[in-house]
Amino acid sequence: MAALPRLSSETRAEVVVVGAGYTGLSAALHAASGGRDVVVLEAAEIGAGGSGLNGGQVIAGLKHDPDTLESLYGERVGAQLIACSGTAPDLVFDLIRRYSIKCDAVRAGWIQLAVSERQVGPLERRAAQWRSRGADTAVLSDRDAARLTGTARYCGGWIDRRGGTVQPLAYLRGLARAAQECGARLFTSSAARRFSRAGDEWRLETEQGAVTAKTVIVATDAYTDRTFNALRRTVVAVPSIQVATAPLPASLRARILPEGQSVSDTQRILRYFRLDASGRLVLGTRGSYGDVPVPVHTRAHERAVCDLYPELAGVPLEYRWGGFVAMTRDGIPHLHEPAPGLLAGLGYNGRGVAMATAMGRLLARRALGETSASLDFPVTPVQPIRLHALSRVGARATIQYLQARDALERGLRRAPARVGA
Ligand SMILES: Cc1cc2nc3c(=O)[nH]c(=O)nc-3n(C[C@H](O)[C@H](O)[C@H](O)COP(=O)(O)OP(=O)(O)OC[C@H]3O[C@@H](n4cnc5c(N)ncnc54)[C@H](O)[C@@H]3O)c2cc1C
Repeated sequence: MAALPRLSSETRAEVVVVGAGYTGLSAALHAASGGRDVVVLEAAEIGAGGSGLNGGQVIAGLKHDPDTLESLYGERVGAQLIACSGTAPDLVFDLIRRYSIKCDAVRAGWIQLAVSERQVGPLERRAAQWRSRGADTAVLSDRDAARLTGTARYCGGWIDRRGGTVQPLAYLRGLARAAQECGARLFTSSAARRFSRAGDEWRLETEQGAVTAKTVIVATDAYTDRTFNALRRTVVAVPSIQVATAPLPASLRARILPEGQSVSDTQRILRYFRLDASGRLVLGTRGSYGDVPVPVHTRAHERAVCDLYPELAGVPLEYRWGGFVAMTRDGIPHLHEPAPGLLAGLGYNGRGVAMATAMGRLLARRALGETSASLDFPVTPVQPIRLHALSRVGARATIQYLQARDALERGLRRAPARVGA
């Protein structure tokens, strides 16, 4: 996309959005198409955050199962979380269609697979819970899993046909273009450094300019900096690293993910993968803090590729990159309104392609004047995590512990089914 300007003057808007990821650009698009004068401030460039770096898996739902959401948050809030996250992929594919976004979108479903027999039952129950709420899901046997993925490493799981895949950066750039076409003004290299109340408005200052607006939408997720320090401390930024192989030959593409689904597995440190439009296997798993944005250590990824697909042993990894995922204490995303006209949405726990797009629309609806009650989504107070400064140490130790347990479980796993059997 064409280079965007830096904010270098004083300006006014009705809505100012901080952060140009899916949350911010969806908010900008929906607010601008609703008639608001919108300015977007992005600290770096379009795609510098998770929205430009992710695995492109469009996933319905949250980490918690629907029944769990209802029992944790009660029937009303549980139903809101289920409805919003369950329909979020519809919004993504609808925006792609409506604004003719070229991003290799494929809606063939999302598959979640069990690495051990023990994990098959919970996945079957997850499929049933969503099915009972009208979603198009099905249970997969180990043979189904082997046929759909081309690897015999899995014991079974489920497919959720609401999901799919996109080229993540192309989808984001498409949202940026659509927001601009609706009148939003986008500025890059324009970090919001200070914000203050000016009468009944907010004033955001960047290095070289400032914006004054009635409504501020903070959409900075795992990349939230000290400008919004309380918000920053509501999430733990966890590194996730991806690799992409060279394009696979047609013979392998016919066997590996032949129907175009994306896959996540149930390892404690999960692996997620898909084929892109050029036939590269794109695979991600957790990494180290030092490997974002440019990974040095991808041995775990090489091992994962060969563990799943031994036939790819000689295929070079052509790309490696990393980004941060925002994890919340309770595993659900949050919409906050800490002061009148100050809104924020973040904390997608690795499920942000669909959910951040949906959050952006919720934030825009609020900015367009709907009451928070009419959003049908919980508005929660900003609650920083205690001892947040230690969260990286804790995350590092937790990752190592979970990796060790995954390795142990892989060792104990029963012999895999034969592919194509
Ligand atoms: C490697 C990886 C793989 C992932 N895979 C998937 C997946 O397959 N499926 C899925 O659903 N989710 C996935 N996710 C999660 C998903 O990418 C995120 O949840 C989602 O992109 C969050 O979008 P966002 O707009 O809220 O934040 P981001 O896209 O992170 O954007 C935040 C932006 O705010 C900017 N910013 C920060 N501070 C300021 C400031 N002071 N002023 C101005 N701008 C500021 C940043 O520069 C950044 O561009 C993955 C994440 C990563 C990192």
